[in-house]
Amino acid sequence: MKRDEILKVLEQVGAIRQGHFELSSGRHSGTYIQCALVLAHPPLAEQLGRALAELFKDHSVSCVVSPAMGGIIIGHEVARALGVRALFVERDRSGQMALRRGFELNPNERMLVIEDVWTTGGSTREAIGVVEQEGGLAVAAGALIDRSGGRLELNVSARALLQMDVPSYEPDDCPLCRAGGIATRPGSRFSRAHP
Ligand SMILES: [Zn+2]
Repeated sequence: MKRDEILKVLEQVGAIRQGHFELSSGRHSGTYIQCALVLAHPPLAEQLGRALAELFKDHSVSCVVSPAMGGIIIGHEVARALGVRALFVERDRSGQMALRRGFELNPNERMLVIEDVWTTGGSTREAIGVVEQEGGLAVAAGALIDRSGGRLELNVSARALLQMDVPSYEPDDCPLCRAGGIATRPGSRFSRAHP
């Protein structure tokens, strides 16, 4: 899939929206991204998984691992496309990311870490840490969208299907507010921001 096709699909299902939003962090932005809204459509999830997997076909991984929750569906689709296992890491009672549910890595197993969106890449970094701790080799990391604006710091080869520069602002320093707009919270009662 080409960049334009991917963007179009994400916009059609409302996974990427343009407007004036109050994000869960409290910051304002002209763009809202919620990958769950595209992954809710299994054929689209499969298609995106295949496109993302294509970037890693030469890495000889034998397993995908994703941080829960956001990474699980796309990780599963990437694993399907590569013909390998799909595991996920999740927080334990102490708040640490861990492999649970009887998931195990083989010694030195070549692992691909897959997430939906990188904002800082923190969850992917934690997942890489778990892989190393469990005796695997984290060889690469991938995401549907990299919105880190080039600030991503991962110690493995990292590629995303889409790079997006998504500025956000403190509410008292928001150009969209200054232009007279009112920020909406993208939530269950969202009304489409498309003109
Ligand atoms: Zn604003």
